Amino acid sequence: MKVHDHEEVLFCNDSITGLRAIIALHDTTLGPALGGTRMWPYASEADALEDVLRLSRGMTYKSSLAGLDLGGGKAVIIGDPRTDKTEAMFRRFGRFVDSLNGRYITAEDVGMSLTEMVNIRKETRNVVGLPTTMGGSGDPSPVTAFGVFCGLKAAAKTAYGTDDLQKRKVAVQGAGNVGHNLVGHLLKEGATVYLTDIHDDKLAAIKAEHPAVNLVKPDEVIGLDVDIYSPCALGATVNDQTLPLLKCSVIAGAANNQLADEAKHGRALMEKGIVYAPDFLINAGGIINCAWELRGYNSKAAYAQAEEIYRTALSIFKRSEEENIPTYLAANQAAEQRVRSVREAGLGF
Ligand code: NAD
Repeated sequence: MKVHDHEEVLFCNDSITGLRAIIALHDTTLGPALGGTRMWPYASEADALEDVLRLSRGMTYKSSLAGLDLGGGKAVIIGDPRTDKTEAMFRRFGRFVDSLNGRYITAEDVGMSLTEMVNIRKETRNVVGLPTTMGGSGDPSPVTAFGVFCGLKAAAKTAYGTDDLQKRKVAVQGAGNVGHNLVGHLLKEGATVYLTDIHDDKLAAIKAEHPAVNLVKPDEVIGLDVDIYSPCALGATVNDQTLPLLKCSVIAGAANNQLADEAKHGRALMEKGIVYAPDFLINAGGIINCAWELRGYNSKAAYAQAEEIYRTALSIFKRSEEENIPTYLAANQAAEQRVRSVREAGLGF
């Protein structure tokens, strides 16, 4: 697969509701393209297009590696999520999703809330991540956090020869839905946990629940003397500025697109001897949860499949070592290989 070799890109414009959206189907070889809808005040349509092409490709890789029978897709809506939302706009968007006849299934992403998902659902059945009261699977974050925890353990095993976290110091950046759940898993395993967030109320809530957690300031987290750095807030936190400051041997977290420049920083981490767990490999718990919603939700099965991330991650680290390539590249190649083999055999969706 080359970058941007997308199957279909749909521009959804509606002058009555003011909707300006783009749906990108990157690859549906393995199954219907599943990926969230993001609402963001993009400066231009070109920026929105660039983002949706990149994000939809990432979903193909994520689902492929997670062993799901799903393809990669994503949607973006151009607008300010604080001021531009109306019921009619999201119902119109739902009609566009529906017009793809099940080749695209949407879910919640940045800038969206339950209200919009409910409005989209009025016009199409092709929505997942709905609340349990509507027959959905609810918040996917606990499953995402569990998958990240499994991937983090696999990375620790690769770096230290053991996945025992009792002597490990772990810095978690971001005390949101995933970070909160991850802290619980880490403390249960006996790790020493440092946690940061830009919102003190989130930190205080976690400290009240887990008094053993050590709180640190947001600007302290990168240079902290820890074994494992777990980015669970924003993307691009591994960049030219932060790389020289990192003291860890493992990077494993939930945030999407952690490497500011995948090729450059992926290689730099390898040269520095840091085991980097590719984000799209270990944060797949959320999409695994959504996939189970499509089949008929089964929480136990979703967790069991998220646990497989441990084994998959070990195989990616092994491939990276054997071929002397960065882990992100080993993961990309494994994802592409699965799609290609199914396509070439004339199988799939
Ligand atoms: P969230 O919005 O609940 O939490 C993110 C937290 O990061 C917030 O508490 C925010 O205050 C904090 N934060 C923002 N900037 C920060 C900074 N500079 N320093 C420290 N903290 C900062 O999001 P989430 O659902 O917990 O997801 C975390 C990350 O994982 C996101 O990048 C998300 O895209 C990714 N992800 C989430 C899921 C999921 O199921 N929730 C699935 C896959 C990927």
